[in-house]
Amino acid sequence: MQALKNRIIKDGVAIGTEILKVDSFLNHQIDVEFLSELGKEFKNRFKDKEINKILTVEASGIAIACMAAEYFGNPLVVFAKKTSPNTMTDEFYGAEVKSFTKGTTSIVRVSKKYIEKGDKILILDDFLAHGEAAMGMAELVEMGGAEVVGIGAVIEKQFQGGSKKLKEKGYQVESLAVIQSINDGIINFI
Ligand code: 5GP
Repeated sequence: MQALKNRIIKDGVAIGTEILKVDSFLNHQIDVEFLSELGKEFKNRFKDKEINKILTVEASGIAIACMAAEYFGNPLVVFAKKTSPNTMTDEFYGAEVKSFTKGTTSIVRVSKKYIEKGDKILILDDFLAHGEAAMGMAELVEMGGAEVVGIGAVIEKQFQGGSKKLKEKGYQVESLAVIQSINDGIINFI
């Protein structure tokens, strides 16, 4: 999506060769009008799919999932939690997810009430890197006997291999901007 590539070039900050910071519009400060355009593009990529829920992971995925929901006819948006708050008293599905940005492993959790047999679920997130978060979310969906209809990311860092792993598992993966490499502060797109 050209408008997204332009925005990344204008506002994105490369940190070394692995990490991209886009917190002026996606991860910290949110440009609602722009995210709405991204949401519309997700609908375009998955236009033939029947979806009744969108699953994402807190915190950065929530905004884009909610913006996209409007274009899918407002399916419910569920976000996996990265911690187990005292309010999470229901039984939950849990999947282990490694974070290469933070160097930690955590359990992402969703209450069993919110993933039901027969659900058709689109997984959306801000970044797709090594594919750990998306793979963990797909596990949660499948634990609940629901179907992963597709996986969408705003920004894919192709060189970290997540997309390839997910496609090998048979999932439809759609990324709105695909980065091939980051070198000397220059972001190279596919
Ligand atoms: P993965 O699980 O695919 O390795 O990484 C995806 C998750 O890590 C996303 O939920 C995202 O929040 C975070 N992430 C991965 N790479 C980046 C990055 O370059 N910048 C930012 N801001 N987040 C990232």
